[in-house]
Amino acid sequence: MFMQRVIQTLSRWYNLESRDLPWRQTTDAYCIWISEIILQQTRVVQGVGYYNRFVMELPNIQSLANAEEGDVLKLWQGLGYYSRARNLHYAAKQVMTEFGGVFPSTYKDILRLRGVGNYTAAAIASFAFGEKVPAIDGNVKRVGARFFGLHAPIHTIGFQKELFSLLFDLMDGADPNVFNQAMIEVGATLCLPTQPKCDVCPLAEACIARLQNLQKQIPVVAKKQKPKNKYFYYVDIEVGGERVLVRREGDGIWQQLYEFPMIEGDGPDWDLETVAKGLGIVENFVVKGEQSFKHQLTHQTIYARCWYLCISSDKFVLNDGWERLNEADFLLKPIHRLMEKMIKFT
Ligand code: SF4
Repeated sequence: MFMQRVIQTLSRWYNLESRDLPWRQTTDAYCIWISEIILQQTRVVQGVGYYNRFVMELPNIQSLANAEEGDVLKLWQGLGYYSRARNLHYAAKQVMTEFGGVFPSTYKDILRLRGVGNYTAAAIASFAFGEKVPAIDGNVKRVGARFFGLHAPIHTIGFQKELFSLLFDLMDGADPNVFNQAMIEVGATLCLPTQPKCDVCPLAEACIARLQNLQKQIPVVAKKQKPKNKYFYYVDIEVGGERVLVRREGDGIWQQLYEFPMIEGDGPDWDLETVAKGLGIVENFVVKGEQSFKHQLTHQTIYARCWYLCISSDKFVLNDGWERLNEADFLLKPIHRLMEKMIKFT
């Protein structure tokens, strides 16, 4: 009875206090899926614009499946971690071929889509189809750890299994959509990492961390690994009014995105002579400028240096995979965040 009352308080709070967000106005699984993948990459405030543009340009699963990859990446530009956009594109095709063009409606089936993990599948299954399955993102882990007073480190399988089972029991009788949304909202707006707002939290009455004053000790988080340093050397070549770009191949984070010709170094102090030689540039060039950049990714810190060169020779030879583009075509190519920074400097 006591827990039921807490859940009712939580639902009431959510219905009165939650933020009004465009993806909460719909039960369309496609739109919810797009919003969830975008929110893995950015904060809600910025995500709204990306979401609105995405569903306006590609309003349903068919349009996404039929889109060119470059157009999907362009809509994603600025969010980073482009494999998420590629996975969206691939999964839309999967829905067309494996599910007859109809978005799968159960947690188990949604999990079969590429790029969809436990949290996203649970979010879509509960928000769009009302399935009883806890949606556990990073924020809900923190709320759950505090609410149930769990002391296991939150990255461990043991913690995740225990939390799933406790939440599954707790949501008994509740509306799965409202319950999950409310837990996510508590995590995003009240149960903050350093200063939880327990005095206005709808879970306060039953929260173990609050009752035992353990908000600082829980959740238990393992220490993060230090990011690796990488050293990228770029040249922005202007030749005959055009610029040189190359599409990044391989299976790294920026695959299929365009960037200036580059070479990876083994340290921070490579000079232009070494870089030009490494890239096979034999023509004379004029150096118009240079700039260094620091770009932080989750597991890597990239130290990049870009030289801005002008080559006047008509005999300038492009390496394999390099393209000469006029400004209009150049601006249409999907690029990564570091490239955006380098272009801004020119
Ligand atoms: S009472 Fe405090 S610690 Fe507990 S869930 Fe609410 S905000 Fe978090």
